[in-house]
Amino acid sequence: MEKSLYHEITPEGFGIAIEKDENLYHKTSPYQVVDVFHSRAFGNILTLDGLMMVTEKDEFFYHEMIAHIPLITHKNPKTVLVIGGGDGGTVREILKHESVERVDLVEIDELVIEASKKYFPKVALELDNPKVRVLVEDAIDFIKDKKNVYDVILIDSTDPIGPGVGLFNENFYNNVKKALKKGGIVVPQTEGPFAQSENMKKTYQLLRKVFKIVAPYTGPMPTYPGGYWSWGFCSEDIEVPTIKTIDIKRARKIEKTCKLYNLELHEAVFKVPNFVKELTNA
Ligand code: SAM
Repeated sequence: MEKSLYHEITPEGFGIAIEKDENLYHKTSPYQVVDVFHSRAFGNILTLDGLMMVTEKDEFFYHEMIAHIPLITHKNPKTVLVIGGGDGGTVREILKHESVERVDLVEIDELVIEASKKYFPKVALELDNPKVRVLVEDAIDFIKDKKNVYDVILIDSTDPIGPGVGLFNENFYNNVKKALKKGGIVVPQTEGPFAQSENMKKTYQLLRKVFKIVAPYTGPMPTYPGGYWSWGFCSEDIEVPTIKTIDIKRARKIEKTCKLYNLELHEAVFKVPNFVKELTNA
């Protein structure tokens, strides 16, 4: 029988193909088409408008990177905001940190939450945790009146297309900065350094206009375009972490629960290739 293939060809004109064996979910929200299908290579896969978002097999690469670098660098993170992230993977990683008392998740599309709870139980499992407040709304509006509320803000968004466009602009980043407490840290996902270098370049130009300290960190992400991804460490008053400044005890405790994150990696991920330094003016 002819194998059916999922293709993702990104706007940049290249992508991946994955054999798929069963369509599990297909619904259209006012924002995007939400699909879940099963593959023998990556388990269940969530796509939005056909673009790769989450796979059971490799989601840990992304969620551990976006969460543990800022949360362990912060001396005592209590309140965290996740923008996007409706699959729940980032929330799951955040709740590994005992100091966290409250997580607000602002996800525009309730279908992403519905599909994730149904087909990604190991990813979405903490969305019903009493510490978590799930708000189904546009983060661009939500953030406007927040002042001095969060220790850490993670922008776990789609690419700068569709509802995600407004999450990659100066005004939004200024509102995010206003919502941060003193000593706070912001980490947006900042696209693929190889596959979406133009997006990344523009994003860092904006981040550097808004935040005093901006540092890219990168790592592997098998099913994302180019298999190589980036996140932006941003703060007004917290320096880029090194082995000397990281809370070693906390890092060692968290690494025991992770497939990717460890203490040595925490410093190493900021050692980026020359072309990434150029792209981000690092
Ligand atoms: N990159 C993650 C990963 O690797 O698992 C997945 C990203 S998560 C699915 C991205 C989410 O951002 C989507 O669920 C999308 O609905 C949400 N989103 C996009 N624009 C938004 C906005 N303006 N406000 C809130 N959520 C938004």
